[in-house]
Amino acid sequence: MRTNWDLTVFYNDFDDPKFAEDMAALPGNIAAFAALIDKDMGGDLPKIRTLIAEYEQLGTLLERLRMMVSMTLACEAGHEKANAANAQLRRAFVSVEQAENALSRYLASVDDLDALIEQDETLKKNDYFLRRSAQEAKHTLPETLEEPVLKMQLSGGKMFSELRDKLDATLEVDYRGEKIPLSAVRSKAYDADPAVRKDAYDAEIESYKKIELPMSYCLNSIKSEARTMAALTGYEDVLTMTLDQSGMTRATLDAMWTAISEALPELRKYFKAKGRLLGHKNGLPFYDLFAPVGESTRTYTIEEARDLLVEIFSKFSPELSEMMARAFDEGWIDVYPRAGKRGGAFCAGCYQLGVSRIMTNFTGSLSDVSTLAHELGHAFNNQQMLRVPRLMCRPPMPLAETASTFNETVLSDFIRATASPEEEITLLDASLMENTQVMVDIYSRFLFEQKVVDAQADHALSVKELKETMLWAQEQSYGDGLDPEVRHPYMWACKSHYYSTGRHFYNFPYAFGGLFGRGLYARYQQEGESFVPVYCDLLSRFGSDTIENVTASVGIDVTTPDFWRAAVKTVVDEALRFDELVGE
Ligand SMILES: [Zn+2]
Repeated sequence: MRTNWDLTVFYNDFDDPKFAEDMAALPGNIAAFAALIDKDMGGDLPKIRTLIAEYEQLGTLLERLRMMVSMTLACEAGHEKANAANAQLRRAFVSVEQAENALSRYLASVDDLDALIEQDETLKKNDYFLRRSAQEAKHTLPETLEEPVLKMQLSGGKMFSELRDKLDATLEVDYRGEKIPLSAVRSKAYDADPAVRKDAYDAEIESYKKIELPMSYCLNSIKSEARTMAALTGYEDVLTMTLDQSGMTRATLDAMWTAISEALPELRKYFKAKGRLLGHKNGLPFYDLFAPVGESTRTYTIEEARDLLVEIFSKFSPELSEMMARAFDEGWIDVYPRAGKRGGAFCAGCYQLGVSRIMTNFTGSLSDVSTLAHELGHAFNNQQMLRVPRLMCRPPMPLAETASTFNETVLSDFIRATASPEEEITLLDASLMENTQVMVDIYSRFLFEQKVVDAQADHALSVKELKETMLWAQEQSYGDGLDPEVRHPYMWACKSHYYSTGRHFYNFPYAFGGLFGRGLYARYQQEGESFVPVYCDLLSRFGSDTIENVTASVGIDVTTPDFWRAAVKTVVDEALRFDELVGE
């Protein structure tokens, strides 16, 4: 098994002549595609067919270059050649975006696009992409502003986003006389030794002071730019823009928050009980949120994690289990933390090669195994989408977190079902840790981001205001579950999700995906094996329709609170059981 991922499937290295050749060809290919959009091809039907084929080809080239460059930078922030190529790619993506906007405007101008789609197999296979693209014409930048605005973003929001990643990756935290990366100090929150957790938390909080000022500029600038972009593209506000880009309605978002906020008082009982269990009197201090509890503190080597996941998932779907084995054996995963490597975890897919790449910061906790299961869920989703054309493989953010949380639920249920009675509390806690993050913490992040976005109308928030706003959001969400004296005023500097220029409110998709994944898992428990092909088919169609239509196709109504309440209840039941086990 290899523990560093293999990027040679994309290019041998940055000196590979093929890499230089592809980089050099890119601007010409984009320009050639853009020129086709204006060209007369003797009718709309042949023209749309040609545009689909050419756009797919361009996608193949872009994807391969992007995989090589961004995977390299994820593990080696200072890689010179990758940084140089990244700057070129960023410029190329501006031209791609312009071409996409031109394509939208062209498709919107086609008389009776729907009738054309019905006439042709290729168009039919790409129907949602074509219809959506035509609709997006309503929200593209005005043509005259397009180039200057996109270029300004390159030196504005996109640069701030990159700076944020560099600050995070290069920050040295003073922990017990040693200098260690932020990702390493954060993973100590899972340590079995209370003194380690507390010292790590203190060191982490202290370390943010070194970067709080530039971080605050990054956040304010990105959110201020988001408002400008929403206004320029004809949206009422940033949230409306995000929901529209996600193919999701406000009713669905509100239905989900309704179910979550109704459950907060009961979910807080879990935090309070965990606080009591760890000897705290005033709720759970932030540094013990991820503390392992109970006698069983399972740890895993990466080999053990591999074998466990491959075994568990073989019972659910041999296809998934085989893909997992392949991921470990064929270098899909970059496993361990190291200096210069980004914190957190992610998965990126390469449609052309039918493979994914996964980055984790594995240190051996059950939570790390769960993260692997999570990212491998994304990889499985990528694999299912190979059944549909490339242009139909762009799932909206909220659906994108479904397969990942479904996997987490499968893992956690298996582990709990095979546990001894002494282990019950440990494993309940592990499940609740993940699920309360998805609901309670994510709710606080949503409230925080709304405040920060709204505030930009008036002024950029100072570091002090950002910290206060974060504490306010944590109070709304965690309430008396957390010790009011020991919270995390710097979560805004910690979580990279706030700094994406293309994805604002990149928080509610986790709540959506988490609860939707649990809802699907409940269906699997009821229906058994016959649900597996339904599930795989559903994953393959995630980029093929609006969220409401995709979910309705398997009989789920996400627009009213009932579906959400049922999914939330599965977590509330665990919280109440945990509270009962801990006792007074
Ligand atoms: Zn994920």
